[in-house]
Amino acid sequence: MDVSKYLVKPGAAFDPAAWPTREGDGFGGGKKAARKELREIGGKLGELQARLYAEGRRALLIVLQGMDTAGKDGTIRHVFSMVNPQGVRVTSFKKPTHLELAHDYLWRVHAHTPARGEIGIFNRSHYEDVLVVRVHDLVPPEVWGRRYEHINAFEKLLADEGTRIVKFFLHISREEQKKRLEARLQNPRKNWKFNPADLEERALWDSYMEAYRAALEQTSSAYAPWYAVPADRKWQRNLIVARVLLQTLEEMDPQYPKIDFDPGAIHVD
Ligand code: AMP
Ligand code: MG
Repeated sequence: MDVSKYLVKPGAAFDPAAWPTREGDGFGGGKKAARKELREIGGKLGELQARLYAEGRRALLIVLQGMDTAGKDGTIRHVFSMVNPQGVRVTSFKKPTHLELAHDYLWRVHAHTPARGEIGIFNRSHYEDVLVVRVHDLVPPEVWGRRYEHINAFEKLLADEGTRIVKFFLHISREEQKKRLEARLQNPRKNWKFNPADLEERALWDSYMEAYRAALEQTSSAYAPWYAVPADRKWQRNLIVARVLLQTLEEMDPQYPKIDFDPGAIHVD
């Protein structure tokens, strides 16, 4: 269960074009075995989350990024289905409001970082401020250019203060995105997910890949690593994310707090 092959090594080059968007059919023992493993990991994540919550000393922040249709919502649905909703908070970052734009770009993000004992999931994140913002020239290059340093410092602050961070780039191919956008047009139950503006973003694919390359190269660190996950096949994507999270939480090894009474000596009437 080695997940290190998906890790973007801190300081190393990252080339999205050379990074796989799918594993072979035999990955995880095949689709059926992979689904079974996902269920098993789901149960373990549930137990680890209960311990993290009971311990109440540390937090886990999960960042999900990827092109439209890469599967950010689906990953949350599948990987966290067995985790107690009380201990998990999902924040979806949209186009900033006027109020948000009146502050620095990390203001709205910091407000949603997980509290001690919680798992926080960012569906999009502060990385949009070096992705969509860079691709669309929403601020000049000297402004987005210094943000990588801010982001590293911000994540170091969170890590130093007790938040474990793990970041996922859900990597799909341009061809797979075409299929998924077509499915959103063809399936009435998926129509609502289609946004004509997604086609404009799709046309900027290469600029986005360049922005992702820069972001992952400059912000994958020991305290906030990036994993680039082959995401063309949903069952592979789910299992890879689940494996990384299991490893992360096992390393954190949260413990139920020590009690300062003898439960055996207490009688409940
Ligand atoms: P969705 O994830 O489909 O709900 O779309 C959210 C949209 O908000 C995407 O097009 C993002 O690129 C956009 N968005 C998120 N954060 C920012 C940001 N900081 N600046 C500009 N656009 C953003
Ligand atoms: Mg969308």
